[in-house]
Amino acid sequence: MFDNLSDKLDKALHVLKGHGQINEVNVAETIKEIRRALVDADVNYKIAKDFTNTVREKAMGQNVLSSLKPGQLMVKLVKDELTELMGGEAEGINLSGNPSVILMSGLQGSGKTTFSGKLANYLKNKKTKKPLLVACDVYRPAAIDQLHVVGDQLDIEVYSDKGNSDPVAIAKAGIKHAKENGFNVVIIDTAGRLAVDEVMMTEISNIHKAIEPQETLFVVDSMTGQDAVNTAKAFNDILDFDGVILTKLDGDTRGGAAISIKSVVNKPIKFIGTGEKMEAIDVFYPSRMADRILG
Ligand code: GDP
Repeated sequence: MFDNLSDKLDKALHVLKGHGQINEVNVAETIKEIRRALVDADVNYKIAKDFTNTVREKAMGQNVLSSLKPGQLMVKLVKDELTELMGGEAEGINLSGNPSVILMSGLQGSGKTTFSGKLANYLKNKKTKKPLLVACDVYRPAAIDQLHVVGDQLDIEVYSDKGNSDPVAIAKAGIKHAKENGFNVVIIDTAGRLAVDEVMMTEISNIHKAIEPQETLFVVDSMTGQDAVNTAKAFNDILDFDGVILTKLDGDTRGGAAISIKSVVNKPIKFIGTGEKMEAIDVFYPSRMADRILG
């Protein structure tokens, strides 16, 4: 995960090794390398610039007081700022409803269906939760079948209505089915297009308004870098979602999406997907991710 970025940051921070003191010159050199590493990792230029300016100011300000060596001080500052940028504390999902309705949104191929299964399984393993999956992709029968395959594999019921072309009606019927049959979590998997378009946005917005979910999650493929951030912005403008799910972090992703998304949409990353298997789901902890980035 983020090997390239970790290597480059390591090299940037190495500049300070062997220096007894932080000074304007060696900090400036380090900062320049850190900024380049972030931009290369697909972090938006302005975010990278603000980030490194903050780190520089703190480095100059804390240097006199700190008992840490320059290299150690810089690693600590970069780690703290990365943690802050990615959201500070970990944030859970709202499961206060009965049933708690969770709406999944995102582009086709982002990993929505896979993540819906993973989340259902994760909650089922918590024992107090009995999840129902609802298939609302009315355009691709294969997507409905895919959710059934996932449900069968996990022994979790899937509600679908193949003849029905109205996703709002299916979502509502799914929630009714959950209430009548003792399910306390409903996870609604929706259709996704290959790019943001008006029809798709109107549809997901209509479902959102009609069912008033406790939690709306936006699923995004971390491999898509800056596009991930732009797509997040488009969905957030329409849905004002509650959290982001970053998938495919097991792949050769550069890290830009993980680092930038929170500061662009001001919504926390809540979970990450780290593989195709149903167990490949983790709660997102900003400080652990910062540790991993710093290698
Ligand atoms: P959807 O169209 O948004 O429902 O996306 P899918 O759930 O069908 O996922 C698209 C592809 O990405 C499938 O081949 C999944 O197996 C794969 N996928 C989903 N999540 C992950 C992940 O975290 N890591 C990896 N490597 N593949 C994933």
